[in-house]
Amino acid sequence: MDFRFSAEDEAFRAEVRSWLGEHLVGDYAELKGAGGPGREHEGFDVRLQWERLLGEHGWIGLGWPAPFGRGVPLMQQVIFHEEYAKADAPHRVNHIGEQLLAPTVLALGTDAQRERFLPPIAQGRELWCQGYSEPDAGSDLANVKTRAVKEGDEWVVTGQKVWTSLAHVADWCFVIARTEDGSTRHRGLSYLLVPMKQPGIDIRPIVQLTGTSEFNEVFFDGARTAVDNVVGTPGDGWRVAMATLGFERGVATLGQQIGFARELDAVVQLARRTGAIDDPIVDDRIAAAWAGLQVIRHFALASLANPTPGAEASIAKLLWANWHQQLGELAMAVQGAAATQVGDDGELDELQRLFLFARSDTIYGGSNEIQRDIIARRMLGLPRG
Ligand SMILES: Cc1cc2nc3c(=O)[nH]c(=O)nc-3n(C[C@H](O)[C@H](O)[C@H](O)COP(=O)(O)OP(=O)(O)OC[C@H]3O[C@@H](n4cnc5c(N)ncnc54)[C@H](O)[C@@H]3O)c2cc1C
Repeated sequence: MDFRFSAEDEAFRAEVRSWLGEHLVGDYAELKGAGGPGREHEGFDVRLQWERLLGEHGWIGLGWPAPFGRGVPLMQQVIFHEEYAKADAPHRVNHIGEQLLAPTVLALGTDAQRERFLPPIAQGRELWCQGYSEPDAGSDLANVKTRAVKEGDEWVVTGQKVWTSLAHVADWCFVIARTEDGSTRHRGLSYLLVPMKQPGIDIRPIVQLTGTSEFNEVFFDGARTAVDNVVGTPGDGWRVAMATLGFERGVATLGQQIGFARELDAVVQLARRTGAIDDPIVDDRIAAAWAGLQVIRHFALASLANPTPGAEASIAKLLWANWHQQLGELAMAVQGAAATQVGDDGELDELQRLFLFARSDTIYGGSNEIQRDIIARRMLGLPRG
């Protein structure tokens, strides 16, 4: 793949920069860098307005085909995410809708579903959450026990999901539920689109290490959704669920790396201030972190060239999750004893939050062990242990 940018790409970059320069002002500029992992509570209402402004100007669903999006080529999508991250614009409130649900509906949904669900995502008007994990179905997702039965022209959903990020602000949830009586494992599951704001749904926040609470338990007790709100055919939900996971490795990860570079820079600045930079071991770790980030970036760019990445996505996940977790550890080493103190208001600073939240990087989106298992079996052909 040729990674050089064409004249059109550069013109697009100028358009993105100029739009961000003009619009990332006032209340929005005050929220630069706000939101994201461990910080989803920050300025939520203003970030929602920002999402709608992005939508109004056609910046959501850039790669989706017309009439739903602008059909922008891959390199320009990368440029958008890079420029967005360079501008330190607020973290987005609906990445689950835009990056996970929308590509799934585009690939496997019906025309009616595309027309119903894509425009409100593109306008920032409907937010989504992902209802996969359950108390006994995390890594072992095929153990899903949530059930949905058809009653007239509706599915009636009963069961419990857990770790559901942003469920408390979501309008809709894509839920993996068992729809065939007596079915087990991967068979008999369906991928349902369920409205969240209804009486049969109880959302209970879970407090995280960071003291914030951006994921939840979600209890479904007779929650309802229209019979047509199933993506793919009923009983074929496993295939659809796996397709969604494939989209987690989107072009947005290139933007994520610019955020990582900013965090590394914050660690270097701190090391200069505290004098830790004079410690050759700290220097060594900083250099290793910098080199690791180059590897992550080159691997991500190279895998964009592969339309069916398969197990490569597991390598990318392992690389960035471990890197980010180690950066959090380095940040604490650089802070020294101060790392154990919190301000009078009980608030963590940016690096303390990074350290604590990064503990989850090697769990969500598939744990390290699961990623290694995929690499061992699908790439190396090793036997199942
Ligand atoms: C911050 C965060 C946000 C999340 N957001 C969402 C969300 O929005 N929606 C959603 O559905 N889920 C979400 N999750 C859940 C996440 O997908 C699960 O936590 C993850 O899949 C692991 O499942 P589990 O927690 O049940 O752990 P388990 O599956 O019980 O695993 C426990 C440990 O055993 C290991 N293990 C399990 N099976 C194997 C095996 N076969 N071989 C080797 N080791 C194994 C795991 O690696 C892990 O170390 C989120 C999790 C976190 C931390």
